[in-house]
Amino acid sequence: MKIQEADAKSLLVAEGLPVPDWEVAYSDVEAAAAADRFLTAGAEQVVIKAQVLVGGRGKAGGVKLAATAEEARAVAASILGMDIKGMTVRKVLVGPAAAIVREYYLSAVLDRAARRILLMGSAEGGVEIEQVAAERPDAIVTVHADPTLGLLDFQARQLGFAMGLGGHLKAAVAITRGIVRTMRAYDADLVEINPLAIVTETAADGTTAERLVCLDAKITLDDSALPRHPELEALRDPDEEDPADREAREAGLTFIKLDGTIGCMVNGAGLAMTTMDLVKRAGGEPANFLDIGGGARADKVAHAMRIILADPKVNAILVNIFGGITRGDEVARGLIEARGQQDRSVPMVVRIVGTNADEAATLLAEAHFETATNLDEAAAKAVAASRAAGTAA
Ligand code: GDP
Ligand code: MN
Repeated sequence: MKIQEADAKSLLVAEGLPVPDWEVAYSDVEAAAAADRFLTAGAEQVVIKAQVLVGGRGKAGGVKLAATAEEARAVAASILGMDIKGMTVRKVLVGPAAAIVREYYLSAVLDRAARRILLMGSAEGGVEIEQVAAERPDAIVTVHADPTLGLLDFQARQLGFAMGLGGHLKAAVAITRGIVRTMRAYDADLVEINPLAIVTETAADGTTAERLVCLDAKITLDDSALPRHPELEALRDPDEEDPADREAREAGLTFIKLDGTIGCMVNGAGLAMTTMDLVKRAGGEPANFLDIGGGARADKVAHAMRIILADPKVNAILVNIFGGITRGDEVARGLIEARGQQDRSVPMVVRIVGTNADEAATLLAEAHFETATNLDEAAAKAVAASRAAGTAA
């Protein structure tokens, strides 16, 4: 689950990391009021940032500065409603604008292969790290945290020096260790600060000082660990969740959308993966991974069918059920119910074996469903149906 910058910053603040102040505004008027508060408190300018769950907002025009409350209103009005990489901006972050001296990159990701948290730092901050990785891989420094000891001080110091943060080493070490704590405290997959920036701050008496702060924050939480953090569920942004993902989650289905044309409905994660492999071996491309789970009733099956059919690319469906706890006749009833409700007709191939397979076969035959007895045959038929539909279209 990705969370918004403002929420990610709240988690960083809770771990003691330095983050400039901010407010979230849902309208241009709210943004102007927030800007007014920061300007009155002494900020020379405010920064207004689109809150959408995609990167590269700056390049897309979703990050702008303003010097007055009125200007902030106009800037917020131009950013709200903007489309950034397919996401509509519904809220903005408003904060005192930082006077940036230099931008750095710092992140922690879960390195599954190494089974450790991997820290990545670079003096080439602000730009997309993928670009740095492709063009100048040497400019990225990495270090693994120990699973039991965490990131040791000397490792954090080495990383800080290698990033060119020798002049702000104490802050760099605190921030680096802080993002590792954040990873562990919330079971995050990713904590990314880009840019981590040296900024100049002017005190009330006019003296200036440099400080290292987290100007942007991106956090991805491990979905499988969310039950351990029920309070983080509140950070889910329903505006940004894909409608199919939300429907599947609410229906208790495991659904992952893919790019192909053959919708797959399967029970059990292992069988679902095997089904996808066989579709590919038969020359097709699966449109999704969908596990209806064990013991699914007819309404759940109908629900799964609606989610699959909502994808306009789907032009054939393969249903593969191994009845154990799940009863074949119950699935067949769900399929018949779903077909009665569906508003577009898509060829479907059904293979049901195991518990109550005979009853299922009778029901499906009466309803004139195309069936298959083995999985290779089912995959071949689904791929043929998809090809025929693709040629016809
Ligand atoms: P992203 O493009 O979605 O990653 O959004 P960022 O928050 O990283 O902002 C993009 C860029 O805008 C940063 O790399 C900075 O150069 C600039 N920026 C962001 N916040 C400020 C700020 O407070 N002051 C100034 N001067 N520039 C900022
Ligand atoms: Mn950024």
